[in-house]
Amino acid sequence: MKALIVFAHPEQKSFNGAMFETAVETLGAAGHEVATSDLYTMQFNPVSGRHNFLTLKNPDYFKQQLEELHATETYGFADDLEREITKLEWCDLMIWQFPLWWFGLPGMLKGWVDRVFAMGRTYGGERLYANGVFKGKRAMLSLTTGGPQQAYPKGAFNGDLDAILRPIHRGMLQFVGFDVLAPQIVYGPVRLDEAQRTELLSAYAARLNKIAEETPLDVGIY
Ligand SMILES: Cc1cc2nc3c(=O)[nH]c(=O)nc-3n(C[C@H](O)[C@H](O)[C@H](O)COP(=O)(O)OP(=O)(O)OC[C@H]3O[C@@H](n4cnc5c(N)ncnc54)[C@H](O)[C@@H]3O)c2cc1C
Repeated sequence: MKALIVFAHPEQKSFNGAMFETAVETLGAAGHEVATSDLYTMQFNPVSGRHNFLTLKNPDYFKQQLEELHATETYGFADDLEREITKLEWCDLMIWQFPLWWFGLPGMLKGWVDRVFAMGRTYGGERLYANGVFKGKRAMLSLTTGGPQQAYPKGAFNGDLDAILRPIHRGMLQFVGFDVLAPQIVYGPVRLDEAQRTELLSAYAARLNKIAEETPLDVGIY
């Protein structure tokens, strides 16, 4: 299996950093090929704009999706985007490792999606959802929260985490054709002691060792 792990946390020594390292080491030790996009270390630019492209079809009026279609036809994506899109096309499994920020992706990772999930190359026309460009590939969110688990069921203090993640699962990953695996969630790692955190890292490694056998989620339409 070819695995791409996208990591979006500004601190390598964070618990997210430990989860990222766990995934890289575990999948590598199991004989899988592993590629990474460590966005902060790479100093990935998450801001979308004219610099996404080598040349512009219409320099007078910037319309991102039309320029993406043009770049798809002319091999015209900027080098940083081309490298990331190539990794997407290469992988069989993609994992996003991130802390939940404001009930969503950190801006760094959201910006990566804004730029890398380009029309034409990664979706478009009839090539959406079940007919998506990345049909047959699988993706998994691996995230941490600040809030405890009891704050995240439906009707609780913060509300249903499945519903919070749905725009990512459905609107990003499934939209471009990925099958979505159940998210790996560590609630409030800062509230846990060292032994509990170590145990959760071991549990994550155990899951990753069998991830090829997992059945994707039915995120559904509602
Ligand atoms: C802008 C912003 C928005 C936010 N929005 C939300 C929100 O909407 N909802 C919400 O719930 N939370 C929110 N938070 C909180 C955030 O989600 C949590 O702070 C984050 O998920 C915790 O993960 P971390 O990796 O940063 O933890 P850290 O604080 O880095 O790690 C927790 C502990 O784990 C330890 N650790 C690191 N490596 C290991 C290891 N190998 N073994 C054992 N222990 C280790 C660390 O030393 C630390 O003591 C927000 C935070 C920010 C900054």
